[in-house]
Amino acid sequence: MSTPVVEVTGVHKSFGALHVLRGVDLVAHAGTVTVILGPSGSGKSTLLRSLNHLEKVDRGLVRVGGDLIGYRQAGNKLHELSERQILKQRAGIGFVFQNFNLFPHLTALENVTEAPISAQRKSKAQVYERARELLDRVGLSDKADAYPRQLSGGQQQRVAIARALALEPQLILFDEPTSALDPELVGEVLDVLRDLAAAGTTMIVVTHEIGFAREAADNVIFMDEGQIVEQGPPAQVLDNPQHDRTRAFLSKVL
Ligand code: ADP
Ligand code: MG
Repeated sequence: MSTPVVEVTGVHKSFGALHVLRGVDLVAHAGTVTVILGPSGSGKSTLLRSLNHLEKVDRGLVRVGGDLIGYRQAGNKLHELSERQILKQRAGIGFVFQNFNLFPHLTALENVTEAPISAQRKSKAQVYERARELLDRVGLSDKADAYPRQLSGGQQQRVAIARALALEPQLILFDEPTSALDPELVGEVLDVLRDLAAAGTTMIVVTHEIGFAREAADNVIFMDEGQIVEQGPPAQVLDNPQHDRTRAFLSKVL
């Protein structure tokens, strides 16, 4: 089998005395959708953030696309990367946040062009053309010149997804992409996620949207108290969970 896009082995992370990740192992292959479920505080965001250099692991190994992101064994120094390596790796990993995190002073189009223009890999004309294609892909070609405050939450999140796609990442991480939205706006964002999944985008999605997990996930992971309690195809984890903790969680969100 090909090298996995994401490889996490034995990862631990604490904030002070709080042991948040307690030995996490995770593999995600190219073109697959991984959905992570779990109660608030179980370490889901910390795990996603450790894939993208937003957190450093205390112990264990993280690789994305075969590149070492973080590595530390007991008693050893953290494997240090240069700032340049970190920026390069981050450019290959899209991140979509719960609260959109758009640049408020930039238009939708400028939010999408900002990173590729700073990366200076393509001409401005190419970057703008591609950004318009991406806005079209998320159904917002008519909002290119709107500022975030002029857009609904669902529209802002779709701009954020277009922005995440702009550097043609090998992986996109979504941290509760619909949980800040009014219920009637959730569907339009999930539709974009479904399209991305169907197009073979490698994605890890933290969400409580069980319907989305059931339809779109290749692998569903249930996390609790900093550990992966169980994982497998949706039919297994959602419909025939093996652990009491998974059953208890699902009975609350379903
Ligand atoms: P989840 O995303 O599953 O809700 P998080 O990974 O955000 O969980 O957080 C796990 C635990 O770590 C929580 O108790 C949270 O308060 C704590 N935590 C997260 N980030 C920090 C931080 N930067 N400093 C201190 N505690 C943190
Ligand atoms: Mg979280």
